[in-house]
Amino acid sequence: MKREIAIFWYRRDLRVTDNVALHFALQSGLPILPIFIFDENILQRLDDKLDRRVDFIHQSLQNVKAGLRKVGSDLLVLHGQPKAVWEKIFTEYQVKAVFSNHDYEKYGMERDSEIASLANSHNVSFKSFKDQCIFEKTEILSGSGTPYTVFSPYARKWKETLTKDFLADYQIMPFAANFLKEINFEMPSMQQLGFQNTDMKFVAPTVDQDIINKYKEQRDFPAIAGTTRLSVHLRFGTVSIRQLVKIAQTGHESWLNELIWRDFYFNILANFSQISLGKSFKSQYDNIKWRNNEGEFEKWCTGYTGFPIIDAGMRELNNTGFMHNRVRMIVASFLCKDLLIDWRWGEQYFAQKLNDFDFSANNGGWQWASGSGCDAAPYFRVFNPDSQTLKFDKDLKYIRKWVPEFNSLDYKPMLDHKMARDRALKVYKDK
Ligand code: FAD
Repeated sequence: MKREIAIFWYRRDLRVTDNVALHFALQSGLPILPIFIFDENILQRLDDKLDRRVDFIHQSLQNVKAGLRKVGSDLLVLHGQPKAVWEKIFTEYQVKAVFSNHDYEKYGMERDSEIASLANSHNVSFKSFKDQCIFEKTEILSGSGTPYTVFSPYARKWKETLTKDFLADYQIMPFAANFLKEINFEMPSMQQLGFQNTDMKFVAPTVDQDIINKYKEQRDFPAIAGTTRLSVHLRFGTVSIRQLVKIAQTGHESWLNELIWRDFYFNILANFSQISLGKSFKSQYDNIKWRNNEGEFEKWCTGYTGFPIIDAGMRELNNTGFMHNRVRMIVASFLCKDLLIDWRWGEQYFAQKLNDFDFSANNGGWQWASGSGCDAAPYFRVFNPDSQTLKFDKDLKYIRKWVPEFNSLDYKPMLDHKMARDRALKVYKDK
């Protein structure tokens, strides 16, 4: 007779501390086997086999493994199509229950409902918990019971609703005895997964007190290390959002607001089905007559538009997988407005390149820039790359770093911004 166990399934929550579903799994009384599945459905969509995100996950799993080994357990890392992997697990182990944290993206939700049905067909319960955000789905609604579409009232209600209970620390160590013990698994290498190692170095998440103290004043200057760079950790759950909010509450209001923007976009994704369908939040924006010139798109992607701030941003992205938030807004406005290229092209390019790519924040950021989103920049707001540079990189430090040739004679803008602005206003008005 095989021993009865429960499984904790890691996904976007790659940490051993303060993890809601892992905490409840350990409290269930069954021995817990933690697993992670490298999902072939996702991996095969990544054309570039040099992908920092896969490397980040791989390194994070090694940390999780080390943490679990300290308590005499281990992490089972598998590779394949989730359904096939789970079929195998259900035949090899005597599983009574599966625990995991909610996923809010379309693919993740479909996968979870498929695996939940499969589990049920084997008489296994499938339990899922909120862990990735503070408030989910319909937890923050307006007085009339509808989801908010404007950030400020959403943030106000979010802050009013927040109590200590939402920031509980879901401890693991007091229940560590309940992990399945005396197990030892090999982990597939990056090469076995079909990927190469990258320059990504996992650095344990820390909140730099100096950065958050000066956040309000410095956050908009891309040449300054003025933001926390925690986005990749939030993306993969190597840090707990509850711990960050607790820190932000100690007098760091503007940083707290950014963490609330993250919940806000999760709320938009959960409550407005057009987002998952690739449509504009405001449907009339789907009538814009985009120019969609492929040659121009290529210049934007590679960082050869002849606008130094745009090129610096795109080169930072292509070289590191990160781009400063202010610059994300400027390059996105340039693509949608100056070049009149469909925001979905930019969204897709960011999705391929950003280490912190998150469907809801990325879609929210792009729809904000194109004017089509909830609480978006008004359509007539067209960022002027030169004035943005004067305001946010006046010593040209950021530009010099990424576009050393910006001063040379043959470095020329690909178009006249004023002409492009007028053209955009006309096309947007005619939608
Ligand atoms: P900090 O300034 O230190 O902020 C702390 C955390 O708050 C971030 O790590 C992030 O989780 C959250 N946050 C900050 N700003 C936003 C925001 N505007 N919307 C939602 N959450 C926010 N962020 C992503 O995490 N993934 C994306 O795919 C993404 N795509 C974007 C696309 C565009 C066009 C734009 C304009 C913004 C996008 N952002 C995205 C939001 C923002 O640019 C990044 O979260 C931020 O630059 C990350 O740097 P940081 O960790 O130093 O942030």
